[in-house]
Formats: sequence, C-alpha cells, structure tokens
Amino acid sequence: GGIGDWIVRRARRKPTATALVDGDTGRRMSYDELERSSAATAHALHDLGIRRGDRVVVLMENSIGFMQVVFAVANLGAVSVPVNVRLGASEIGYILSDSGATAIAVSERFRTLADAALGTGGHGVRHVLVDGPPEPTGGVPTTELTASAAGPSLRPPDGAIRDDDLCMIMYTSGTTGRPKGAMLTHGNMLWNAINCTTIGTGLSGASVTLAVAPMFHIGALGNSVLPFLYAGATVVTVRAFEPRRTLELLAEHRVTSQFMVPAMWAALSQVPDFDSVDVSSMQFVLCGGAPCPLPVIDFYRSRGWRFLEGFGMTETAPCALLLDADFVVSHAGSVGRPFMHVDVRLVDDEDHDVPVGEVGELVLRGPNVFAGYWGRPADTAEAMRGGWFHSGDLGRSDADGFVTLVDRKKDMVISGGENIYPIEVEQVLFGHPAVLDVAVIGTPDERWGESVLAVVVLRPGTDAAPADLIDHARGRIAHYKCPRRVEFVDELPRTATGKVLKRDLRERYAGAAE
Ligand code: ATP
Ligand code: MG
Repeated sequence: GGIGDWIVRRARRKPTATALVDGDTGRRMSYDELERSSAATAHALHDLGIRRGDRVVVLMENSIGFMQVVFAVANLGAVSVPVNVRLGASEIGYILSDSGATAIAVSERFRTLADAALGTGGHGVRHVLVDGPPEPTGGVPTTELTASAAGPSLRPPDGAIRDDDLCMIMYTSGTTGRPKGAMLTHGNMLWNAINCTTIGTGLSGASVTLAVAPMFHIGALGNSVLPFLYAGATVVTVRAFEPRRTLELLAEHRVTSQFMVPAMWAALSQVPDFDSVDVSSMQFVLCGGAPCPLPVIDFYRSRGWRFLEGFGMTETAPCALLLDADFVVSHAGSVGRPFMHVDVRLVDDEDHDVPVGEVGELVLRGPNVFAGYWGRPADTAEAMRGGWFHSGDLGRSDADGFVTLVDRKKDMVISGGENIYPIEVEQVLFGHPAVLDVAVIGTPDERWGESVLAVVVLRPGTDAAPADLIDHARGRIAHYKCPRRVEFVDELPRTATGKVLKRDLRERYAGAAE
C-alpha cells in the first residue's frame, strides 16, 4: 500500500511511460526509473537509520529530486515534512523542532539556509541529505541524497504501508496563527487522487501537467503531482513561476490540464503575446486557494478553455469543493459543491445545520480529511468534533448545495451585535479607484465591542482621504459595515503564500484608536 505502491503498479503496467520531467533541465524519468530510484534511496535512508514514523523535513524546490525523496520516505513508512523554501531560517528551525525531524533533505541551493535553520532549531536532526554533491553542513553529517535510477529493482526495506499510516506532515499557511502540522495519511492522499479522477477532467495516462505552484504546499502536490502520478500521467516540474516561460512550457509539453492559484492565472493572462503561443492541447484548467477574479476566468473561457474553481485546505489533502466549468458563470463567486467522496455541512456554534442561505461554519468529513494536528491534541480536539472537521471558514449554501464562502470565522467582526464579514467590505473598497490593496479588521471598541478599521494601500500617484473611502462604502453597503477608521500603509503584511496577516494588523492597531 501507500503512495509508493502507485508507482510500483504503474511501472509494472507501462515501465517506459514518463512520470516526471524536469522542466528546467529537460531531464526525464520514467515510472520504472522512479520506482527504482526511490527504492534505492529508501535503502540509503534505511542504512542511515531512518525508520518507520521518523520525520524527514524536505527543503527543496519543485524538482524530480523532491518526488524521489517523498516516495523514498513513503516507502520506508517514514513521514516527509515539506517546508516552504521562502521561510526564514528561524521559521524553518521552528518546523524542524516542532516536527521532531531526524533528517533534512535539501536541494544544493538551500544548504546555507538549512545551516542557518539548524542553528535555530531542530536539535534532533542527525542527517543532512543533499540533492547534489555532499559537503559538510553545520557539523551534521551530510549524505548525497538521490540514488541513481539505474540500479537494480529493490523491494523497499519496510514495504508494509497501510492507508492510515502517516505519509506527510504538511504545515498550514499560518494565516490565522503559527503554522500547524496537518497529519496526512497515505489514505488521505489516495482518496484525494480518487476525488480528482471523478471531476470529469479525463485524468489518464495521457494527461500532462506542469507542477509550477510550489510543491511544498498541498495545493500543487494534491492537485498537480500526486493525482497525476496515481493516474500514470506525466508531471513536468518547474522551479519558479515566470509567466512568459510558463506559457512556453505549457505549449512545449502539450499540457492537457493545469492547476495554479489565482495570482498565477492572472499573471499568465497578462503575457503580452498570449495568443501567439499554441496551447491548443489544454483541456481543463483548475484554480484554487483563494477567490479568482471574474475577469481572469473570462480571459480563459473566451479562449475556449474549461475553467474549474476549487476550494481546498491543507487539512483536506486538499480538494474539498469544486465549481465545475459549466457553473463558473451562472454561480460566479461560489466555490461549488463537494468532491465525490467529501461530505460538507454548514453549522452554527452548537453544530446544528443552518438553513439554506444563512451563514454557518463549513465542516467536512471524508476519507481525505487529515488525522489531526501534529503534537497539538487540543487544536485537534477543537477542530474535529463529532467526526466533522471544523474548517474555520464561514459560508452559505443555496438550495442546490452550491457553497459561497463568506469569510474566515476568526476574521469576522462583531460590532454593535451585528456580524460583519471583512471580505465584503474589502470588495467594496477595492472598487474605489485609489485603492490598490486593502484589509479590513475589527479593533476593540468600548461602545460597540468592535469597530471596523480599513487598512489601505493607495495606488501610486493617487490621493484619497479617509472620509472619501468611508463615503464610497456608505453608498454601497449598510452603514454598520462601513469602516469607522481608515489607516494608510505602504504595504500589507502577508504570509509566504500571499495571504494577508490580519492577526498582525489587529495587534498593531488594537490600542491605537483615536
Ligand atoms: P492557517 O490554517 O495556518 O491559518 P491557511 O488556512 O491559510 O492558514 P491553507 O490550508 O493553505 O492555510 O489554506 C486554506 C484556506 O484557504 C481555507 O481555509 C480558505 O480560507 C482559503 N481558500 C482556499 N481555497 C479558496 C477559494 N477557492 N476561495 C476562497 N478561499 C479559499
Ligand atoms: Mg487554515
């Protein structure tokens, strides 16, 4: 069992089929080679003493080596812990310590970062595994990582993997607090892959995709990489997202379906001579992770592309809800309906279902739902109640079960007893020509409980007073939702995944009311 077994079975059926292509170097790896090299790497890791259940942090960019490590670790029954390569050394140190990792696998270019991280945490790390020539790193023994694909076909040293064995600890983006390690099992990965094959995108051995969103997040791993390898398809890894280059790669590799986050789809649509590049191979595109602006969807739809929108979370491995291409226009703004093997409800604070059209917390159940937060039993107990994962996202559903997200529960503002959803206020303020970026938060208020504050980045060369923005909002939404105060800043604080850090803003402005 386990994800390693997918590769073994695919390699038996069609050994020479291409599993992975390194889009940066052109290097190809067949299913047979991927099977051999990950078995050989598993043996190498076993020889170093890495065993079932041990955590191996993966600090690597998108590459073939990344997946060799993931499959090698999985074959051992050990647990990979992919880490955002854009985090700072102390943030990586925190994950090394929090996960209790005994080894870290790094691409050559991140050795210095790994060194610095080991200086701040991860005192249990005994091995640094480098995807490249070995050189001593910070006193911890360094080993060359990925074994050659040419070796004999070996059985993995500890092959009996069950569906409920841990496969990965994936850290959440850290938008609402410190990143939490979501424990994802082999079964979670399998069911996510199965869900992805049921959405009418025709995922098969003939499919080709680019893994260009970062693979250290579940978005790319769970949409682009694992479901495609499950299906025997081809995954082209790309180290960095560059719009023009991405467009060329889509054409060069005859990509058939593609996942990216909204910001990437938006940037791709801005490539000046977009229509001069032949991407006629494209059958489906998928966007998720944040709401996608309608003009971006229109851009692709008007070129005949079938555009799907997905909602997912690290904790659901990640696919949860999907807005099918047929509904992208008629149900614009909705994140659609649950994937095949996912159950969804919207509940109030007592866990009772809310009526159609009313706002409730989105709770989910299914074989793709994670096994809890690593080392955080209290957080796990709070999130997993009555067998349902409480997402912390608020939404409402229509009579046909289409869900529209309203906001995160933690970001909701309660002022004078009224619930205010900052996203709604932000959307109104985005409509003001001087507003480049905006975040709406609640600040403590003696009289109202909380009061609405808009933190605004003005477009360069424009000028607007707080009263202008407040008036703009007043003409469009209920008075109680309008900002009482506007603060101007040069830039909003964001997570490494580009989400606004509202907790930082709340802290900054908590005591600062006039
Ligand atoms: P943390 O849990 O650490 O605070 P996070 O929730 O941002 O961070 P992720 O698991 O990466 O970490 O993101 C999941 C969240 O992203 C969802 O709970 C939801 O708020 C948001 N999201 C995902 N897809 C969409 C979408 N299609 N539209 C709007 N929001 C989305
Ligand atoms: Mg979250």
